[in-house]
Amino acid sequence: MNKINVKTPIVEIDGDEMTRVMWQMVKDQLLLPYLNMDLVYFDLQLKKRDETDDKITLEAAEAIKKYGVGVKCATITPNKDRVKEFNLKQEWSSPNGTIRAALDGTVFRAPILVSNVLPAVRSWKKPIHIGRHAYGDVYKNCEYRVPEAGKAEMVFISDAGKELWRGKIQDFKGPGIIQGIHNTDKSIVSFAKACFTYAYDQRINLWFGAKDTISKTYDAQFKKIFEQEFEANWKGKFKEAGLEYFFTLIDDAVARIMKTEGGLLWACKNYDGDVMSDMLGSAYGSLAMMTSVLVSPQGYYEFEASHGTVQKHYCKYLKGEKTSSNSMALIFAWTGCLRKRGEIDKTPEVVEFAKNVEDAALETVESGIMTGDLMLVATPDSKNKRVFTEEFIAEVAKRLQKKLK
Ligand code: NAP
Ligand code: MG
Repeated sequence: MNKINVKTPIVEIDGDEMTRVMWQMVKDQLLLPYLNMDLVYFDLQLKKRDETDDKITLEAAEAIKKYGVGVKCATITPNKDRVKEFNLKQEWSSPNGTIRAALDGTVFRAPILVSNVLPAVRSWKKPIHIGRHAYGDVYKNCEYRVPEAGKAEMVFISDAGKELWRGKIQDFKGPGIIQGIHNTDKSIVSFAKACFTYAYDQRINLWFGAKDTISKTYDAQFKKIFEQEFEANWKGKFKEAGLEYFFTLIDDAVARIMKTEGGLLWACKNYDGDVMSDMLGSAYGSLAMMTSVLVSPQGYYEFEASHGTVQKHYCKYLKGEKTSSNSMALIFAWTGCLRKRGEIDKTPEVVEFAKNVEDAALETVESGIMTGDLMLVATPDSKNKRVFTEEFIAEVAKRLQKKLK
């Protein structure tokens, strides 16, 4: 078989621990034998970030802006323990956070469905995608422990030095807590644009939930911006494609999600998205059965797995023990990236190759061959077999080879 040409270079961002090990296996066995592709490679393993004072992370983000599409392995976000373990110059911030900020992107997640792992919610038949606003609110807050009775106020002073607003938060009669949060119109507009673009690309309905009845200025601004974006740029396109934009209160959205059959994008404010994406991930079966893509308003894409570096399995691997780590999300990060590259380049053979890899992976699990995380949640069947990390990838490779003959 002739190798398939990938027209434009792909930005490849390597990572840490068990996912780094699986990353190489996936490339060697499922991709490189079949593709001629130029990879613009960035090694973001923690040691390299430390050596370059984290400049390499910014360079990787710039490369995604240049080439348009990238794929990223999971990376360690260092904490105090990691600083000691790797003897780091400092506690570098999360590479995902850095890249997200550089691309001003929104993270979209969706479950990978297989027929023998049923979602915990019976009505869910199709994937529920989540779009999480990745800026502001409690993640960029200012908070204070009130030690004694007193008055808490919020003040806004313009750059011109004028006090434009002052409001009372609370007259405290004793100790308590206060918190200030913010968001910006610019970031909310990007979020809305990314959500409409993603839902339209995927041809699925868009739901957005907030609490504008209680938060009449803050959440109401989110609702307003989504409506404006819909009216200005999407109403016609959505109608033509038979799609719906639906706004409702966040608690109503949660109640409806439990009854829907899925097949929609659920746009969530930052905190709602943090909480709800973990709920969806676990309800659909396993952390390793979620895809994740960062979409920027300019149309740059970064595909990744939504789980971390699977450190516990890596510790076993280092000791020479066998692991049963699931590479599905990493495989789908690569296929998502290849499909998008093929769509942009107008090379249907690349899109078709991506589909073949995905089908081979799905069929492997559906034939009963699966890693330990899925054995726990799969429909019991005598043909189910728990396999090791490398065995699973070899089984996918076998099926892929047959498809490509
Ligand atoms: P994790 O790597 O997602 O793993 C948590 C647990 O989930 C694992 O111990 C394993 O459970 C299960 N799991 C996750 N992925 C799996 C897979 N592919 N196959 C089988 N089981 C899987 O989270 P963590 O242990 O909290 O974090 C480890 C490192 O990852 C941290 O340094 C963190 O900073 C980093 N991280 C990176 C990203 C990213 O780059 N996108 C995201 C999150 C975390 P069992 O042990 O029970 O088998
Ligand atoms: Mg979370």
